[in-house]
Amino acid sequence: MAYSASVISRAKARLEQDRQAAAADDDRRIAAIYEKCPRLEEIDRALRATMAKVMTATFSAGGDTQTALETVRKENLALQQERSWLLQANEIDESDLERQPVCPLCGGTGYVGERMCECLRELCRQEQTKELSGLLAGRETFDGFCLDYYPEGKPRQEMERVKNACIEYAKTFTAGAPSMLFTGGTGLGKTHLSACIARQVAENGYSVVYDTAGQLFSDFEAAKFGGYDDENQSRTKRYLECDLLIIDDLGTEMITQFTQSVLYQVINTRMIAQHATIISTNLTPNELKDRYLPQIFSRLFGTFKVWQFYGEDIRFLRRKKGAMP
Ligand SMILES: [Zn+2]
Repeated sequence: MAYSASVISRAKARLEQDRQAAAADDDRRIAAIYEKCPRLEEIDRALRATMAKVMTATFSAGGDTQTALETVRKENLALQQERSWLLQANEIDESDLERQPVCPLCGGTGYVGERMCECLRELCRQEQTKELSGLLAGRETFDGFCLDYYPEGKPRQEMERVKNACIEYAKTFTAGAPSMLFTGGTGLGKTHLSACIARQVAENGYSVVYDTAGQLFSDFEAAKFGGYDDENQSRTKRYLECDLLIIDDLGTEMITQFTQSVLYQVINTRMIAQHATIISTNLTPNELKDRYLPQIFSRLFGTFKVWQFYGEDIRFLRRKKGAMP
C-alpha cells in the first residue's frame, strides 16, 4: 500500500505522540507505586543493575566469572523474594510495574522488521481518509445518489447500472483493480460517484488521491519549473504511486505538449504498475480522440472500462426543483 510521504509522516507523528503518552502513563503509575512502597524502587533498581554487578563482581573476584555469577544470582534471588513479598503485602499487581508498550507487536516503533506494523497502517488509513475528506465536499454518499433525477427508460436504467457497478467497485477494491473512464455531459453525477468511490476505498485502507486534472497538471508544472525539491517531488510521486488515482474533469485544462506528456506518463506508469485510475470527463470519445495523443487515447479506450453517463444536468434540475413553490 503506497501511502504518500506526507500521510506516512503525519501517521508516524501520531504514533510517536501515542508512544510518549503511554510512556508518561507508565511513569505516573509506577511512580505512584514507588511512593507507596519506596523499598520496591530500590529493589527494582538493584535488579536492573544486574549486568553491571556481574561485571564488577567478576573484576573484584579477580576474573573468576563463575564465583561472581553465583554471588549475584544469590543476591538477586533474595531481592526477588523480598519483592514478591512486598507486592503481596501491599496488594500491588506486578503487571502495574511493567511498562505497557503502545503496541505489543512493534513496541511503538511502527515497524516489525521491514514491514509496517498494523498500528501504523491504521493511523495511515485514518490520515488518508482525513486528507481526502478535506478535498471532497463531504456530502457524497451512494445513498444520496438519487436516480429519480434521470429520465425514465434507458437513461435511468443505464445510470442504475453505473451506480451499482460503482458501489461494487468501491466495496471490492483491491490493489490491481481495473481502471475506469466516466464520460458524459456536465452535472450527470460523475464527480459525485467518483467521490463516493474515493471515500469508501480510502476507508477500506487503500491510498487514494483525488484531484482535478487542472491541479494535477499544475503540480507537475511546479515540480518541473520550481525545481524538484522534496515537497514537489512527493506531490507528483503520490499521483504515480497511490493505489487509486481519481482525476476529475479531464479536458478543461489548456492543452500543451507538456500536459500531453504528463498525462501519458501518469496513465502509462500507473498501467505498468497495475495501479487503478478513474478519470471523469465531459468530452465525448471523439473529442478525446481529437484532443489527446493517439497513445493516450488508445490506453484510455483499450484498458479502461468506459462508463457512459446519461440524462440531463442534475444540478440544474435540482435548482429548478428547489426554486419551485
Ligand atoms: Zn505496532
